[in-house]
Amino acid sequence: MFPVTDLTTLDKRHLWHPFTPMQPWCAADHVPLMLVEGSACALKDQFGNEYLDGNASIWTNIHGHNHPVINAAITEQLGKVAHTSFLGFTHEPAIRLAKELVDLVPGDKLTRAFFTDNGSTAIESAVRMALQYWKQNGRPQRDTLVAFDRAYHGDTLGAASLGGIPLFKGSGNDFGYRVITVPSLDALDLLTVDDRSRIAAVVIEPLIQGAAGMRLWPQGMLKALDAWCATQDVFLILDEVMTGFGRTGRMFACEHESVVPDFLCLAKGLTGGYLPLAVTLTSERVFEGFLGEPHEGRTFFYGHSYAGSQLGCAAALASLRIFREERVLEQLSAKIARLGELMADLPAFRQCGMIAAMTVDSPDLSLGAKVCLAARNHGLLTRPIGNTLVLMPPLCVTLEEIERMVAALRAALNEVTAPQ
Ligand SMILES: *Cc1c(COP(=O)(O)O)cnc(C)c1O
Repeated sequence: MFPVTDLTTLDKRHLWHPFTPMQPWCAADHVPLMLVEGSACALKDQFGNEYLDGNASIWTNIHGHNHPVINAAITEQLGKVAHTSFLGFTHEPAIRLAKELVDLVPGDKLTRAFFTDNGSTAIESAVRMALQYWKQNGRPQRDTLVAFDRAYHGDTLGAASLGGIPLFKGSGNDFGYRVITVPSLDALDLLTVDDRSRIAAVVIEPLIQGAAGMRLWPQGMLKALDAWCATQDVFLILDEVMTGFGRTGRMFACEHESVVPDFLCLAKGLTGGYLPLAVTLTSERVFEGFLGEPHEGRTFFYGHSYAGSQLGCAAALASLRIFREERVLEQLSAKIARLGELMADLPAFRQCGMIAAMTVDSPDLSLGAKVCLAARNHGLLTRPIGNTLVLMPPLCVTLEEIERMVAALRAALNEVTAPQ
């Protein structure tokens, strides 16, 4: 074992962190926070300090850390086998999980589960399926995806091509397929006839755009978009990587507007936030568009080495069992109401279920980061989006923990914004 100080030295010498400016990270006076233990909503650092997990470990955690049911499920699976290929083989955890997921989604349209291992590839699978479907089913001119301004659908080149946030686009190019970005639903009707005839699918984060800074769509927008897609016979891809699994107060955000898409992409909360696993759910119509003899070349030739990992599927099954046994959704309305009450007076406050956000209007663009840093001293971990501050706790959070989180956020805000 290395002493803690040696570990942070080694981190600065050998690691490269995601979305992290590494020069200040590696500066001599920066002490990286190393998280060593978790229990429910609490996390402990290398010095023994405790924090509440105010962003559910980047929006993934659902039932809390170290949940005995998920731990036991992973351990039990580990005693059998950890991972086997899903290319040309199958296994019970994935079969059972596929069945549970298609049963969980309202209606009977979504019948097929395609597993990958993260949100970006769940989106990429949907995009590739949509493009290939039209190409080999009589509408090859449909080569275009429509996405929305300020959308975020992941970081791989294919998923980033759909993104509407310049910061996350890297080089700013689009990467190999045609994307039209529109600001709103109305803008779809302003597209030229030619453009409209080329749309393979429209992709959206339903109800709320996450990485854009928790931007809410107007109520009814999703329903109207679904109707628009139906009239044009283009596919609707819903990115529920952030909103899936109870985050918005319902199991899936699309339930709020009674929409069932052609593709439903799920990842972050699928395993309760324990292991990387993702799924793209789609319809029998799409699935049948890929059938044929191998020599016809209609197969979906795409997949990842850890697709449908046995451990991940076991964790996901346990997470769904907790939803049922602990009646997780039934308990959310009181928590959602409390979060709203306690934060309602904060600037630009908005909320979508268990996602609460506020934005400080300041010329100092690092104010959000300063507030989050100050919040650590009050026992709260969260991550800003610019000057937007977000509380998005695991769904198992207690009312008392919600109060402590909001109090910590307010104390940090006051410290950072108080006149010197
Ligand atoms: C996080 C996220 C993704 C990307 O998921 P990864 O697992 O990080 O690749 C895609 N879409 C939305 C809405 C997300 O929040």
